[in-house]
Amino acid sequence: DDEEMTEAEQQVADAEDVWVFIEEHAGEVMNVSWELLAEGRTLADKIDEQLVAIVIGEDVDDVAEEAIQRGADRALVADDPVFEPYRADPYGTQFRHMVEEWNPSIVLIGGTHTGRDFAGRVAVPTWAGLTADVTKLDVDEDGLLQAKRPAFGGNVLATIVCEDHRPQMATVRAGVFEAAEPDPDREGEIEHVDVVVSEEETISEVIERVIGDTADITDADRIVAVGGGAEGDVSPAVELAEALDAELAASRKAVDEGWVEASRQVGQTGKTVRPELYVALGISGAIQHLEGMKDSRVVVAINDDPNAAIFEHADYGIVGDIFEIVPQLVEAIEAG
Ligand code: FAD
Repeated sequence: DDEEMTEAEQQVADAEDVWVFIEEHAGEVMNVSWELLAEGRTLADKIDEQLVAIVIGEDVDDVAEEAIQRGADRALVADDPVFEPYRADPYGTQFRHMVEEWNPSIVLIGGTHTGRDFAGRVAVPTWAGLTADVTKLDVDEDGLLQAKRPAFGGNVLATIVCEDHRPQMATVRAGVFEAAEPDPDREGEIEHVDVVVSEEETISEVIERVIGDTADITDADRIVAVGGGAEGDVSPAVELAEALDAELAASRKAVDEGWVEASRQVGQTGKTVRPELYVALGISGAIQHLEGMKDSRVVVAINDDPNAAIFEHADYGIVGDIFEIVPQLVEAIEAG
């Protein structure tokens, strides 16, 4: 009968709610999760559906509570020692089970190492469409998610929609949305769900944790970024970062030259940051760099070329040589 919906059409029609994965490690929540909760709230309100926080971990009721304060209508919590520390197989299996059980319409996950690691394990078996590295989201009145992401080297912003299956999944870059502040008066339901994985069934085991460069520039309040002007010597930037209690970051030029680790690159092919203070040392202000820092609250630029593009986006500019000016700044800061 042509009139009858296929199973897939029925699944799309029945899907509801916007889910946001709240990523926590030993009680510490990644800021991107709060950013997604704020954006998820906007999307859920547009389509008049609920915003649901998905919390997976051990002893995570406080995290679920905070998710409600930051805008979720309810939280689904999978609480078990098997989830601490993070491993892809128990997370992926648990999350997939929850997706199959509740049939959410939209699922947003931070584009962190963890998020990128397990999102595919949920998307593939559930036939969901997964858009990676999203920088902008919108939803139309039919609940169709428009996930936007840079494509072709950032020359176009592609809009990706997923018509035939639910959930519509996206991993989203940190720093592109503003986090919601908690409201202690907000109330919502916290529901503990069945844990469908166990240590016995989990094939991976954490043998050793090696902590490398753990800096997450997307979480920093203050950033000192260095560019081509450093010509191989980033010590002024390191010293200024120390004096300001800031994280070191870099343009692609400084990363390509091997002066600064790639995890600290700001820009279109690096990270998007929105700190309170962004100091750009010897950075020209190429469009691909501006893309990653233009929403910073206060921008200070030091560059020896008065026509450098960065000055057009700076609140304070100093024309001069970073090797002369930065040591004076550091001295002044340390003198208090
Ligand atoms: P330079 O272009 O070398 O500029 C150095 C600046 O420092 C100049 O303005 C110069 O006047 C000044 N200077 C020199 N010496 C001194 C001194 N002693 N004191 C003070 N100032 C001095 N770039 C990014 O940053 N992030 C990205 O994610 C990124 N993605 C890209 C993606 C694509 C597809 C493409 C094509 C490019 C991308 N780029 C990115 C590269 C970008 O186009 C620029 O090439 C890069 O940002 C330049 O870095 P820079 O300004 O630090 O270096």
